[in-house]
Amino acid sequence: MPDKQCRRCKEQEAVHTIRADPICNDCFSLFVKTKTVKRLEVLNRETKSSHTGRPGGGAPNSNVRKFYAGLSFGPSSSALVDICEQIIVGRLSRGRDAAFNLHVVHVDTDLEQSSTDLDTPSPAEQRLDQWRARYPRFTFERVPLKDILALDTIDWATLLPSNTTEETEQKASQAQRPSTPADLRTIISNLPSATSRRDVLDLLVRRLLISKAAFTAENAPYDALLLGCSTTALAERTLAETAKGRGFSLPWQINDGAIEDGAGHKLALYHPVRELFRNELVLYLSAVAQPPLTEGDFVLMPASASSAAAVVSHKDLSIEEVMTRYFAEVELNYPSIVANVVRTTAKLERHSHDHVHDHDGGESTSPGCRVCGMPLDEAGNERWKGEIGPLDGPEGDPRLRVERLCYGCERSIHG
Ligand SMILES: [Zn+2]
Ligand SMILES: [Zn+2]
Repeated sequence: MPDKQCRRCKEQEAVHTIRADPICNDCFSLFVKTKTVKRLEVLNRETKSSHTGRPGGGAPNSNVRKFYAGLSFGPSSSALVDICEQIIVGRLSRGRDAAFNLHVVHVDTDLEQSSTDLDTPSPAEQRLDQWRARYPRFTFERVPLKDILALDTIDWATLLPSNTTEETEQKASQAQRPSTPADLRTIISNLPSATSRRDVLDLLVRRLLISKAAFTAENAPYDALLLGCSTTALAERTLAETAKGRGFSLPWQINDGAIEDGAGHKLALYHPVRELFRNELVLYLSAVAQPPLTEGDFVLMPASASSAAAVVSHKDLSIEEVMTRYFAEVELNYPSIVANVVRTTAKLERHSHDHVHDHDGGESTSPGCRVCGMPLDEAGNERWKGEIGPLDGPEGDPRLRVERLCYGCERSIHG
C-alpha cells in the first residue's frame, strides 16, 4: 500500500505523520537527531574561539566538549538527554570521537525536604539514580533550589513582604535574609498570584542553573549550558514574558548565545531541540528513546508546571499554564504559527548589559534586574509603568526599592 510507505526512505512502513509526511520510525529518529545535531554544530562554531582561548582551557588535545545540561524530567529535557546519547553512540559506532559529554543537573524544587529523614535519598535523587544507570556515560547532579539563597546577585530584600516600616526594614534586610527552604517556601507562597508564583519559581530555577553552570565553568570548564526547550516551549515563553512585561528580555531568554549571570561570569546558553515541537519530543520518548520515565511522565505538560504545583497549591491558572494549553492546540493545527513566534523573536537584537545609556548620553554598566538578572530597559520600564500609573509610594516605602527590578519582576512580587 503506497500510502503506508515512508516518504523518506521509501522502504519501510510509515508509522508516524511528521510535518505532513508519513514516515517510518527509523526516519523519525534520524529527523530528530539531525535537527539537534544542526543546532549543536552552530554551538560548536559560535563558541570555538572561547573554547580554545579559555584560561586554564580544558584538555587542549581533546576535541570532546563538556556541556552542562538542565533536566526537569519533563519531555523536552528528557528527550534532549537521550538524543545526545544517541548522537554520541552513532559517532562512536562510525569510529569517530564522542564530540561532547554531558553533566546533567536537576534543580529540585521540593522545598519540603528539610523535614524528611536525611538518610533517605530524596525522590529526585532516587530518580537520578535511574538516569545514572541508563546513561552511564553522563554525570548527573541534584541541586536543591535552596542553593539559590547563596546567590548575592539576587536582591532578597525585594522579595520579602513589603509591610515593614523603613526602620525595621533595614534590620530586616540583614536579619531576615532567607536562609532555609522554609524561608524560600514562605517567599514563594506570599506572592500575590499563581502567575507570580510560577514566574518567580521558574526564574529562580533558571538563575540557579545559569549561575551553577557559569561558576562551575571556571573550575571545570564547561563549554555551554544546554536547555531542553522545544519550539513550543520557546513560543509559550515569548508570549508569557511579553504579557508579564518582560518583552525587553526576550532576546536573552529565547535566543541562543552568550549570556551573563549577573556576577560578571559569561556563559554560552543554547537550546539544541529548539527546532522540534513538543509533541515530536513526546513521540520521540515513547517511540525511540527508552529513558527511565514512568508512564505518567508522557503527559503533554511541562514538568515545571507540576513542580510549581508541588511548592504551592494554586486555585487559578498562571499565564504559563494558559499559554501551554493554548499552544498545545495551536501546535496540532497550525504548527507554523508556533515556529514563527520563535523565529520572529530570534530577529530581535540584544542590548547588552554593558552598554546601558545613562541620562548624559554616556554608557554605564548596569547589573540588570536584581531578581531575574535580565538587563533593564529603563525607558521601557517607564513606559510600562506609565500605562497603569506609578507604583512608587512615598519616601521610605519599601516599594521604592523596585527601581532595581524590571517591570515584570516588580509586578510579580508586588502584584
Ligand atoms: Zn523511512
Ligand atoms: Zn526582573
